[in-house]
Amino acid sequence: MLMKKIIDLLHDVQNLTISENTSCKQLTTFKVGGYCTAVFPSTVDAFISCIEILKKNDAKFIVIGNGSNILFDDDGYDGIVVVTTELKQLVVSENRISAECGVPLHTLCTAASGASLAGLQFAYGIPGTVGGAVFMNAGAYDGEIKDCIVDVTCFDPETSKLIKLTKEECDFSYRHSAFEDNGLIIVGADFELSYGDKNEIKREMSEIIGKRRDKQPLNYPSAGSAFKRYPGRYTAKMIDEAGLKGYSVGGAQISEKHAGFIINRKNATCRDIKELVDTVKSVIKDKEGIDIECEIRFIK
Ligand SMILES: Cc1cc2nc3c(=O)[nH]c(=O)nc-3n(C[C@H](O)[C@H](O)[C@H](O)COP(=O)(O)OP(=O)(O)OC[C@H]3O[C@@H](n4cnc5c(N)ncnc54)[C@H](O)[C@@H]3O)c2cc1C
Repeated sequence: MLMKKIIDLLHDVQNLTISENTSCKQLTTFKVGGYCTAVFPSTVDAFISCIEILKKNDAKFIVIGNGSNILFDDDGYDGIVVVTTELKQLVVSENRISAECGVPLHTLCTAASGASLAGLQFAYGIPGTVGGAVFMNAGAYDGEIKDCIVDVTCFDPETSKLIKLTKEECDFSYRHSAFEDNGLIIVGADFELSYGDKNEIKREMSEIIGKRRDKQPLNYPSAGSAFKRYPGRYTAKMIDEAGLKGYSVGGAQISEKHAGFIINRKNATCRDIKELVDTVKSVIKDKEGIDIECEIRFIK
């Protein structure tokens, strides 16, 4: 009943597409999960109005980007999934780029290289959005999103105010930001880059994409590296050395190409993936005596 009332209220918001009975498979790169009601704001005003309605009515909700680091439950999600992928405005001004939260990293990197701006090459090929990358402090090849962030514009659902957090206030560390705990919604981010040689920037980007294609099982659905790096150790190497490459639970498998990836080999369920994660954690605990941490965020 409450859900119906909320959906009715959301119908009054302009520039907001509502999609009931959406498969979570379509909202994530893992292609796993039951059904949910998803909403797609295409302007910041619609995004904020939507969050305000959800907050005011005590509705359960989650904001997601491209769904490339999350896993929905097999029972789906019984709240509202706010998907930011239509919030795609991007402005390049001298050596700065302002991007809305739904801008794909691919677009951000291409805009930077097109303007001869260096600093984001590392992010080329990470299949996330600006919002997801800020939330996760996404990183690769010795770079992290925090390295080029100036500030992050957020909406505070408690006060209904738009605020800017400086890079320091975002409290970035390895695959962590303050957004994991502060309840703020990321609306956009400002990046500061350095001027560089356009051809050299593009060459680095294609080299990085090449490495990804060589090393990662990109022909199967996944959420990227399933486990965080353990200080001083390569988690994928530990998993490989434990003989777990190719190990499966149901349709989920430890990739034979890259032991750090769990792939959806054939109709994997969330349950399969969770069981596989738990097995890997316990094997590594027994063998190495350390607790490795899962990087994928389970949404229930
Ligand atoms: C093939 C593959 C390769 C990958 N390689 C890498 C890699 O090299 N490095 C790396 O770091 N990651 C990698 N990833 C993981 C993933 O792409 C990144 O973590 C990415 O930054 C997630 O962005 P997203 O938009 O998909 O976020 P989502 O998965 O949609 O969300 C991630 C988290 O951020 C929150 N969130 C998203 N948007 C907002 C917002 N606007 N406001 C508040 N919270 C928000 C969500 O609630 C969720 O908790 C890879 C994934 C795949 C599938």
